[in-house]
Amino acid sequence: DIVVVGSVNLDQVIEVAALPRPGETVAGGPVRRLGGGKGANQAVAAARLGAAVALVGAVGSDPDSERLRAELAAEGVAVEHLAAVPGPPGQAVVLVDRQAENCIVVSPGANAGLGPAAVAAAGPLLGGARVVVAQLEVPLPAVLAAARLSRGTFVLNPAPVPATGLPAELWPLVDVLVPNRTELAALAGVAEVTDPAHAARLAAALPCARTVVTLGAAGALVCEGGAHELVPAPPVRAVDTTGAGDTFCGALAVALAEGRPLRQAAGFAVRAAALSVQQVGARAAMPGRGAVAAQF
Ligand code: ADP
Repeated sequence: DIVVVGSVNLDQVIEVAALPRPGETVAGGPVRRLGGGKGANQAVAAARLGAAVALVGAVGSDPDSERLRAELAAEGVAVEHLAAVPGPPGQAVVLVDRQAENCIVVSPGANAGLGPAAVAAAGPLLGGARVVVAQLEVPLPAVLAAARLSRGTFVLNPAPVPATGLPAELWPLVDVLVPNRTELAALAGVAEVTDPAHAARLAAALPCARTVVTLGAAGALVCEGGAHELVPAPPVRAVDTTGAGDTFCGALAVALAEGRPLRQAAGFAVRAAALSVQQVGARAAMPGRGAVAAQF
């Protein structure tokens, strides 16, 4: 049903009372080593919600990489198109404070080795998927190749936005764009998104017909055909919002693959993402189907 093209990372997560300022040293809790990466997280989110999911990406050649691969397989994600390239996997150092605010550094590692040829090798898989989802933690040529091979709905989570913006040839291939506020601001060339109305104006000016802007605790804004609608998030006690956007994208893909309209898919994604912020770790609280149905 769904093919995710994207990154696989080993997250090293440390809880701190307050995030350090430049030049400051702070004490933190124990280092947790968790499976992460936007691509892998989105694939896990979709698999937990019951979809058939394959991940196209790259890990390294060390024991950490093998663990990451095995963990994904155990989640039910098809890993036949996860290449093993020499060296370490992608890694992220994640600091999370008591307000659930985070600060993240990503070292691409093996993700940088995902080329268009590896994506082309997954051509039949991509061509047969109802939904293909990509992010930008892997090289742009790989994302472009995936967009070109996709015959279903191509969903792009433009995270992180490249310094030079999105390549012109990628825009017309995107069916649904899913930026957060920071990414929308970067794409629109403004310093920040001030409120949902501002987000709606910025999204309407992008060369993309359908955009879903994630707005953190405020929910998500669905922009389609010149109209927009705010889908509010249910109030929850957030512990760690790392991976909230990934849960959102995975859930959105599941609902779109089931043929639901965009507004309804965004409602499903908002409920899944609200559940995901209630424990530390990107994947710890990613819900199953039953939890989304039961909780709200
Ligand atoms: P990112 O994780 O990329 O920074 P957001 O912060 O916009 O993206 O979060 C993605 C989605 O997760 C939101 O659209 C919302 O549905 C959900 N979410 C995030 N933070 C909260 C929160 N505090 N309470 C409820 N839902 C949240």
